[in-house]
Amino acid sequence: MKQDIAFIQREELKAKPEPVSLGFGNYYTDYMFVMDYHIDSGWHDPRIVPYEPITLDPAAMVFHYGQAIFEGLKAYKTADGTIQLFRPEKNMNRLNESCARLCIPQIDEQLLLNAIKQLVSIEKDWIPEGEGMSLYIRPFILATEPHLGVRPSHQYKLLVILSPSGAYYGSQLSPVKIHVEEHYVRAVIGGVGHVKTSGNYAASLKAQEEAEEKGYAQILWLDAKENKYVEEVGSMNIFFKINGEVVTPKLNGSILPGVTRDSVIQLLKHWEVPVREARISIEDIFAAHERGELEEVFGSGTAAVISPVGELNWNGKSIVINEQQIGQLSQRIYDAITGIQLGKVEDPFDWTV
Ligand code: PMP
Repeated sequence: MKQDIAFIQREELKAKPEPVSLGFGNYYTDYMFVMDYHIDSGWHDPRIVPYEPITLDPAAMVFHYGQAIFEGLKAYKTADGTIQLFRPEKNMNRLNESCARLCIPQIDEQLLLNAIKQLVSIEKDWIPEGEGMSLYIRPFILATEPHLGVRPSHQYKLLVILSPSGAYYGSQLSPVKIHVEEHYVRAVIGGVGHVKTSGNYAASLKAQEEAEEKGYAQILWLDAKENKYVEEVGSMNIFFKINGEVVTPKLNGSILPGVTRDSVIQLLKHWEVPVREARISIEDIFAAHERGELEEVFGSGTAAVISPVGELNWNGKSIVINEQQIGQLSQRIYDAITGIQLGKVEDPFDWTV
């Protein structure tokens, strides 16, 4: 169904923050995209309206049973002023995967992508320019029907908000210390770990808080069944370079299929660097380190692109990776992906839109 997107202009625009003070997730632009769903009329009324608080009934089902999903992607401004999205169709697709798992009706991916393009064009002056700077795009859907019986909601709201964000790292990548979690788990097979639903993040806070208290930046999650196999790191996927070969946990139903993860794998194949998706035990990682074969470890995600790991702590033992230095391959991947995102290098994959 072809639906036109309405636009309601605001009277006054907000003052824009200084790029140096941006950080992540602190400021929101002048407009947002909204669309509603009702079981009788489907998704309807797509519109771009002034950014403002929304009103929900206290009985709205999202507050009680947590039917909420989201996505995260970025718009970048290149040196010549072109605005680029990075593989946005992957995010639209993943949003629908999340819808399917949470019993939320499917959205028209093309309509949402068009809405995002329009919204970002309207807000182009909010996109900060320069290394690591971007406009973060947060599409999300929540269950709005006032009803307290446990079942899928009959009404939903989809919104897209935009937040200008600063560089994740200062002038260069910096390796982080990671705690391998042995007590808490993030996701189970058959559960919702492979989709982006809010409860996954709520459930991860406790472990993250405790790791921070011990001086670690992030958690490395192990599988929930045997507490043995590596899954993800914080809200990133994870890669290990062992004896010249790159390995990453195989998607198993409890790992989020990251867009950056897929891009890293494709890039490595393109460069003819050996890369393998496999079940990897944390024991094997520590054994590889013992043999002197663990060359690099890095996380991948939209926020930081590549996040080198300098130290892993597991079972009371800490290992230092690559002398806490940024690995050569980590840097090469980071430069390649950010280069494509910022239009500084050729994009052989047609990833930018
Ligand atoms: N795992 C989790 C749990 C995440 O929240 C994210 C961020 N979306 C990722 C991995 C990385 O995914 P992407 O590369 O698509 O940002």
